Amino acid sequence: MLRIYNTLSRKKEAFKPRKGKKVSLFVCGPTVYDYSHIGHARTYIVFDMIVKYLREKGFNVSYLQNITDIDDKIIKRAEEKKTTPLKLAREFEKEYLKDMKSLKIDSVTKYARATEHIKEIISQVKRLLKKGYAYRIEDGIYYDIKKFKNYGKLSRRTVVQAEDGVSRIDESKGKKNKGDFCLWKFSKRGEPKWKSPWEDGRPGWHIEDTAITEKHFGSQYDVHGGAKDLIFPHHEAEIAQMEAISGKKPLVNYWIHSGFLTVKGQKMAKSLGNFITIRDFLEENPVRLLRLLILKSLYRSPVDYNEKLLIQTKKELERIDEFISKLKMTEAGPPSIKLKEVSSRSFEAAMEDDFNTPKAIAAIFSLINKGNSLIAKNKLSKSEAKEILQFLKKVDKVFNFIFWEKPKEKIPKGILKLVEERETQRKNKEWEGADKTRNKIKKLGYLVEDTKEGTKIKNI
Ligand SMILES: [Zn+2]
Repeated sequence: MLRIYNTLSRKKEAFKPRKGKKVSLFVCGPTVYDYSHIGHARTYIVFDMIVKYLREKGFNVSYLQNITDIDDKIIKRAEEKKTTPLKLAREFEKEYLKDMKSLKIDSVTKYARATEHIKEIISQVKRLLKKGYAYRIEDGIYYDIKKFKNYGKLSRRTVVQAEDGVSRIDESKGKKNKGDFCLWKFSKRGEPKWKSPWEDGRPGWHIEDTAITEKHFGSQYDVHGGAKDLIFPHHEAEIAQMEAISGKKPLVNYWIHSGFLTVKGQKMAKSLGNFITIRDFLEENPVRLLRLLILKSLYRSPVDYNEKLLIQTKKELERIDEFISKLKMTEAGPPSIKLKEVSSRSFEAAMEDDFNTPKAIAAIFSLINKGNSLIAKNKLSKSEAKEILQFLKKVDKVFNFIFWEKPKEKIPKGILKLVEERETQRKNKEWEGADKTRNKIKKLGYLVEDTKEGTKIKNI
């Protein structure tokens, strides 16, 4: 039975969806105003793993993610870049989706843009006003956190503690409580705006998520995920909004939060010069390296990205590759010793215990150790090797770092030009010149071979 650590109860709980095998799962998506970094990659790889595992277990998961395409940061960045907020948002949404594709994240069922849910957002603000949870002041409509009895139940803060809140708290003089947050912001001159029953404006940050989830999942659903820093104020606000509107609780049965990724012990920040974008990382390294590096830690624990971890993970990938090529070559050996059964049992036990990927990956490496020593003694049968390969393929549907395609080698343009030159020389029977060119190519590190199928170039 799968058990999940629920932030709401601070306990591991047996996982039971609201409707049989159907799971509705929402994860906070990006605010699209810049390139995503490897800290974002961690969050999205973690939830990709979780959804893929649930699907492997036979759950029918509807995975919804929002895209914040209107917000203060977007407006500010657009101003700096002399473009419009919506153009900037579309541009970085595209880049975000590109990054997700290169991270092999393909588990999301639907992406939902905030700006395409304005009608639903307005409807929620209206209902909050009508029920007395919201009030209007000079610059917008705000949520009165004192009115919501259970405020703070997720982050375990009181209304007063919420007042020395973290970033992205809305500043406005007329607010009733310091921790009150904006639901609808009246637009200032030149800002993007939508019509509303009050004044033209744009949604606050928290309201988009509940508007989107209410539309697609209803007022209650199974799982909400995101990085730990979203617990407060963002997720607390979601609960306050939706439970006040519907009068039903809980909004979400299981709250899953992923841990931070630091770089050499520090928080990633542009000002510290340790900001690593996903595409910069992938320029230098294969995606499987990042997936293993992230998944070998428990999703809730912090990960520190550093040189040592990178080198160690590379070595682990080499061990995997070596083992797989050995398995593929295994010929002899006595009948089965049930290595696969034992490994798959420990893999599953680990995953069922709150997606304990470090333990699950340890089970894979223990399989590799035992397998290697059996192969060395000629004691692994061909059929068992095949079974192990099948098991690893199944595991890789969730992890995506075991099997990979060797990227086609790129021959530099300069070399190709020299090879062409040599072809012409050969055609013109300039044998001496052709040999010279071949030696030139060799000095640059490439070998030209003339075979029946034509000329072949090899990197030496
Ligand atoms: Zn969110």
